[in-house]
Amino acid sequence: MNKILFNDRIIERENVIDIEDRGYQFGDGVYEVIGVYGGKMFMLDEHMERLKRSADEIQLKIPLIINDLKNKLRELVLINNLEEGIIYLQITRGVAPRWHTFPDETVSPVTIAYVRSLKRMTDLEKNGVSAILTEDIRWLRCDIKTLNLLPNVLSKQKAVENSAFEAIMHRKNIVTEASSSNVFIVKNEELFTHPANNFILNGITRKKVIQLCEELNLKVNEETFTVDTLLQADEVFITATKLDIIPVVKVNNQPIGTGKPGNVTKKILHKFQSLIQPATQT
Ligand code: PMP
Repeated sequence: MNKILFNDRIIERENVIDIEDRGYQFGDGVYEVIGVYGGKMFMLDEHMERLKRSADEIQLKIPLIINDLKNKLRELVLINNLEEGIIYLQITRGVAPRWHTFPDETVSPVTIAYVRSLKRMTDLEKNGVSAILTEDIRWLRCDIKTLNLLPNVLSKQKAVENSAFEAIMHRKNIVTEASSSNVFIVKNEELFTHPANNFILNGITRKKVIQLCEELNLKVNEETFTVDTLLQADEVFITATKLDIIPVVKVNNQPIGTGKPGNVTKKILHKFQSLIQPATQT
């Protein structure tokens, strides 16, 4: 796993990041995490679309043509012999003397990507996880996948310190998403998830789950819901790249539904698994 993408070249992993990279100093950049199953990238086009949107929203010009970038990522997976894991891809506004405003146009954005081997977390999938509730203290453009993750880091750390796997965040009383995943609840066989607006990241896994629910004739309501509704749900689950779909069986030490992964979640998970076993998309 020692070969990385640095701008348009695949090179040995080494210290290539400058101390004045704006990603490093300002979090001035965007990123994607792409799942790899059976040596194939899953939902690559959707990740590329989201990357382009995030970059546009912060007025960052992606230096590579998207098709070339996709080819470089394929090459990276191959050269590292990655069967199962993730690609981390990040583009920052480049290296310039520290000053808040954008650097002049001669400064090129910096692209890096590397791979990491990661197995699916089947035990979590099977048994479910616990979560805590925490105030969503992030900014108002959570739809952009930027490098600024400190509130997410603090939330996840709080979860782990409370022996939980994830932190489910809420603004006032409205559940938004979790520190690194989207949240779905099931009530009377219908699903609810926060609408894809500026308060959440529109997860690629979230989108896939919504599509699968349509195929399963399960109604998904992209509507806000309160913390109380979450606590009284029949089922709760979270979605994210490589985590896929993980049942949440306890929130703030309170069991959700039966306290075990629910049938609707299992049904969706089963359908999702059939997509990734022989990974269909490159
Ligand atoms: N919300 C947040 C805050 C996240 O960090 C992630 C993981 N990137 C997600 C949702 C899930 O997105 P995806 O399914 O695209 O991984």
